[in-house]
Formats: sequence, C-alpha cells, structure tokens
Amino acid sequence: MVTNCDQLTKEKKVKPLLSTDEPICQENHLACGDGNCIETGLFCNGVADCNDGSDENACDVNTDPNRAPLCDNAICKLPDCFCSEDGTKVPGDLCPSNEKCDNVPQMITITFDDAINNNNIDLYQEIFNRRRKNPNNCDIKATFFVSHKYSNYSAVQETHRLGHEIAAHSITHKDNETFWSEASVEEWAKEMAGSRLIIDKFANITDNSVVGLRAPYLRVGGNRQFTMMEEQSFLYDSSITAPLTNPPLWPYTLYFRMPHVCHGNLQNCPTRSLAVWEMVMNELDSREDPELDESLPGCAMVDSCSNILSGDQFYNFLTYNFYRHFDRNRAPLGLFFHAAWLKNNPEYLDAFLYWVDEIIENHGGVGGEDVYFVTMTQVIQWIQNPVDKDRAKNFQPWTEKCSPQGEPQCRLSNRCKFSTKELPGEALYMHTCVNCPNQYPWFNDPTGDGLV
Ligand code: ZN
Repeated sequence: MVTNCDQLTKEKKVKPLLSTDEPICQENHLACGDGNCIETGLFCNGVADCNDGSDENACDVNTDPNRAPLCDNAICKLPDCFCSEDGTKVPGDLCPSNEKCDNVPQMITITFDDAINNNNIDLYQEIFNRRRKNPNNCDIKATFFVSHKYSNYSAVQETHRLGHEIAAHSITHKDNETFWSEASVEEWAKEMAGSRLIIDKFANITDNSVVGLRAPYLRVGGNRQFTMMEEQSFLYDSSITAPLTNPPLWPYTLYFRMPHVCHGNLQNCPTRSLAVWEMVMNELDSREDPELDESLPGCAMVDSCSNILSGDQFYNFLTYNFYRHFDRNRAPLGLFFHAAWLKNNPEYLDAFLYWVDEIIENHGGVGGEDVYFVTMTQVIQWIQNPVDKDRAKNFQPWTEKCSPQGEPQCRLSNRCKFSTKELPGEALYMHTCVNCPNQYPWFNDPTGDGLV
C-alpha cells in the first residue's frame, strides 16, 4: 500500500509485522515493516537492525516479542525470584489472605535523593538522631541515593558508618531528562557504576554495600538501564513508579513481567527478563480526605504531592497512607524525599517528625512490635527470608550496624578544589578523608587519576 508522503505519515514510525495471518518468516525470525525477516532476538535490543528501523518501534511490555513471560510461581522461587500476578502478594506464606496481615512486620523505607552536603547534613542528624529506635532496639535507618556533584564524601562516609544505605544516583545528574530515557548501556554504566566507584573510593566504603540505584528524575532507561545493572552487578533499582492502587505493591524481581502498567515520568520500562530487583515506588494517595475528595493523581516523590500545603495536611497524608499499607497487605511504605522540601518548610519537617515519633510510640520502638524503618537492602533481605514479627526482632540482617557508637571515622577531611574543562567556569570542591585526586572525578574519569 502506498500513501502520500504527507507530514502526518512521515512522522509516524514504521511498525514491524509482528502478527500476520500466515507467518512471513522462518522459525525464530520476525518481519520488519518492509517485510524483511531478522532474528527475533534483534527486536527491541536498542539497535536498529531492520532497514526501516521498525524492530525498535514496538517495544513496550505488550509488544516486545522478547518480553519476559508472565509471573510463574512454579519457576519463580525465593530467595532469588519473587513475583505475583498482580504484584500485591505478601512474600512467603505469612499472610495468604493478603489483608489484615498482623504477623507481617510493616517496613517503612525513607529515602533521600541527590548530594549529601552542608545543606542537608543537619537535617539528617535531626531525623536520624540515634534516639529513634526500631523494635529490635536498633536505630531507624534510611537509604540515600547520592549524586556526585556537590557531595561531601566525608559526610557520605559518616552516613554509611551510622548504618544507613548509600546507593547510586549518577555522576552528572544531567538535567536533560531525555538523556536518561535514551542513554546507551555504556552511558548508564559510566553514570552508575562510575558513581558507585566514586562513592567507594572517596567515602572509603569497602563492604560492597552500594548495590542499588535510582535514575535522575525517575527517568527509567528501559532495557538498556537494566542490562547495565545486570552486567555491573547492581542488585536493585528504585525508579519505576506504580500507579496508586489498593492494596499497594510489594517489590518484585524482573525475571518475569512487571505486574503493573509502565507509569510515571514518561517512563521507558524494561521488558526483558532481567536479574534485578525492582523496589517499586508505590504512588501515595495525596487526597486530604479520601472519603470526600475526588480522585487526584497519586505521587511517587513526597515533594511532588502538590496539594500538600500545610503541616497538618502532611500529617494527615502520612497517617492515611500508612494505614493504607498497614491495614492491608503491609507492602513496604516508601517515603521518598528531597532534603530541600523538608529544609525549606519547617512546618513539614515538624509534622514528619511528629508522625515518625507517633508511629514509633504506637507501633514500633523498643518493645513495640510492628513497624521498622529499614533500608532498601534490608527489605530485600526480609523478602528473601520472610519472618513474622516475633522473629523479626532477632532477624540478623536488621541488627547489623544496629546502633553505631563513637566518633566519626573521618573527622578531618581534605577539601579538594578543582576546576575542570568539562564544567567550565566552575570552582568545584570535594570533601573526602582520602587523598585528593589529581582531577575532579567525572563521567570519563571517575577515579580522578587524570590519565584519560
Ligand atoms: Zn535527583
């Protein structure tokens, strides 16, 4: 069929001929839009293999011919694989009914994104003041997705010493958002494995605990991002948002197909079978009164819940969303922040701390039973080996770095000053307890050796 070359058809991408009445191609081959056959494995691999490029034009989770199969619990077994049909099932057999899961400890994952430095260290000290405790008498813990620019690595080192989790959030945090959707496997590796290398080296982290990452702007990079994660041995991603649902979703592995639609900031979700955990970001319900208000879009990052305008509203929001998890399947409750939102709005910080203390008093704390503020990796460790709330108190992965005492290992840090042609006109400072590198560590030279 020939159509006129008008503007509209020109802009439309050619689709491959994935389903035809009679097969066009031999076994393990599929047809491009122009009728030529290529190997099935070449479809949606991030490289145009058809002459018309159509092998890369139908690649969402419903059309990618190489997409992961639907969850199969005969094959997918803990500890390495976890999935359920709709994503809401509680791991193990602690709560077959999937509601009123009183035996399941409620995990809460607080995360902060971006650089750790003097703009936010005091905030983190105030929240994680070492007096707020989980029921196992360990300090409450959080996860920090650290981007490189402006990070103070002696502060990162201290955050890690106190038992919080440090994860990768890229070197450049490029503000061209489409970069992240379209970056190659190699670019993803430079940003994220490079970020991990910088953190390990300059925050002197030697326990291989940097295992997770979050994409800047939650711009998921599809199969390329996750292929990089497999190749670079990252354990988990926490960038994919799931639409607001009741009950909320549990984290899952990507060996099988994602249990929810690809949703969020123009997301490019992975489709293939991948050996990566997804610490899915459940959207929170931002309505002030869920009984009365009309539906509003959910929000993944707390600071994108645009209708929170007062401390009272924020407190109500936290309480309502907590019980949305706690009274149902006890999927981990994720509270995902940027520090500035709490720093710039003391009323929100007060409400947040009031809520945390109330949760600890009512459901957690020493002698409490139910609620634990844990890191992302600690959530995975629990899913891999689910224990009921009585055994949770002695669950070994949750007592590591229980309540670190003493002084920071890094008390006198070096203040390294750089200028680099990659960031022209900027004077860059980097604090670290190890020696200053020759060059500012960056995308092509994460060690800062200056040899490239
Ligand atoms: Zn960020």
